[in-house]
Amino acid sequence: SATTYTHQESNDDRFLGGLLVPGFDQQSCISRYQAAHYRKNMARSPSAHLVKRLREQETLQRRCGPGTKAYRRAAEQLDTPRNGTDDDDDSCKYLVLVPYRGLGNRILAMASAFLYAMLTGRVLLVDRGTSLTDLFCEPFPETSWLLPPDFPIKDLENLTGEVPESYRNLVKDNKADSMSDLPYVFVDLDHACTYHDKLFYCDDDREFLHRVPWLVMRTDGYFVPALFLNPAYQDELDKLFPRKDSVFYLMARYLFHPSNRVWGLITRFYNSYLKDSDERLGIQVRVFDGDTPFKHVLDQILACTSQEHLLPEVMTEETATMPMSASAGARSKAVLMTGLSSWYFENIRGRYWQSATATGEVVSVHQPSHEEHQLSGEATHDMKALAEMYLLSMTDAIVTSGWSTFGYVGHGLGGLTPWIMFKPENLTTPDPPCQRAMSMEPCLHGPPFYDCRARRGADTGKLVPHVRHCEDMSWGLKLV
Ligand code: GDP
Repeated sequence: SATTYTHQESNDDRFLGGLLVPGFDQQSCISRYQAAHYRKNMARSPSAHLVKRLREQETLQRRCGPGTKAYRRAAEQLDTPRNGTDDDDDSCKYLVLVPYRGLGNRILAMASAFLYAMLTGRVLLVDRGTSLTDLFCEPFPETSWLLPPDFPIKDLENLTGEVPESYRNLVKDNKADSMSDLPYVFVDLDHACTYHDKLFYCDDDREFLHRVPWLVMRTDGYFVPALFLNPAYQDELDKLFPRKDSVFYLMARYLFHPSNRVWGLITRFYNSYLKDSDERLGIQVRVFDGDTPFKHVLDQILACTSQEHLLPEVMTEETATMPMSASAGARSKAVLMTGLSSWYFENIRGRYWQSATATGEVVSVHQPSHEEHQLSGEATHDMKALAEMYLLSMTDAIVTSGWSTFGYVGHGLGGLTPWIMFKPENLTTPDPPCQRAMSMEPCLHGPPFYDCRARRGADTGKLVPHVRHCEDMSWGLKLV
């Protein structure tokens, strides 16, 4: 009825405390409206200032997005560069993001670029690659964040810091003043980019980059911690995020709404295997030494979950000969495992089949897929990967593999502070096997080593209290 509809549209729970706006077509993006049912309370609430800035960004995206006059005018400038500066207040500035590598990398890149676009008043447009449209709904109402296929700069995937338009070359040759003569500037933020590329992290956008209508950025990671080291953005970031550890969680809950097909994968699995348990534990297994099973990794999972009391012990052989039937009211725990291999999952599931638990708990173990090998940009493969990251985010506690952006998205999207398993060295189980993380934030793998204020090299994990080195990568940076 009409009254229920009005009531629902203004129901804050579904719109995550003002993070989301009502008014989208519900059928075309079911997850946007249903996701709140599947999750407990918000781990972090958006600040009033963030909500206000999101609404302003939506207006900007609509005013300047693909199909508008402003977009056509700006795109024409790329074909026929103008002379002199055009500081027309009405003109729009754009950030074109080229996300790449695995899906976890691409999600972190999109979240970071969106925050940078908000901080600098740019319209975010994303290069769709081969699978983006199969994975996510549009995040902004009445416009598209997808870069139109007829965008004048071609071959975006192959741009590197070597091109003359790159930020690297402009700062190296001291040509910052002439930036406004360029149709676009390219920023290479690959995790392996150079010292000069990374000076971008100290850039005060107001000085010269704001004159460049098109900023094209290539990145594969979560560069938000570096923005928190730049004095130019400090006041605004303080207002947007009174709690610094909430950035990825809020940006991700705002941006990433799984498409209906992916939402089907998520909800069918959740309802079949996870919903009815008293507790849900996620275990994300990512192995960087190859796709064959490794005993030291299985040992690490068992040592971590035992040491941190995340999984119950099983009865020894002698005691187990006496059949102990679980009482009707026994607690149940569902374990969601993800990984390219099914070997770890089969071992752990077998363990709880062959022996009773010492606590009487009932443990069920589930894994949605085992793709065996990593593929890139293949639609159904990426859809499964997204569904699994999302399912991980719906658990109550989570164990992740160090160094994995897949794991970062799983826990970050859920607002969960993970237990991180350290990356094994020399095919040996690390000791300790895992550690509770400091925060729910992802780690930046290719950080700057430069103090923007002092203008010299520095240990960037020691400059401000809320940016520290990561648990799983000693040189990485994360917000706490
Ligand atoms: P990272 O390499 O661990 O940082 O994570 P990425 O997501 O960037 O890249 C790994 C890619 O391998 C994923 O995007 C998937 O394509 C695939 N992959 C890795 N682990 C899993 C998994 O547990 N499940 C599925 N379905 N795919 C996975």
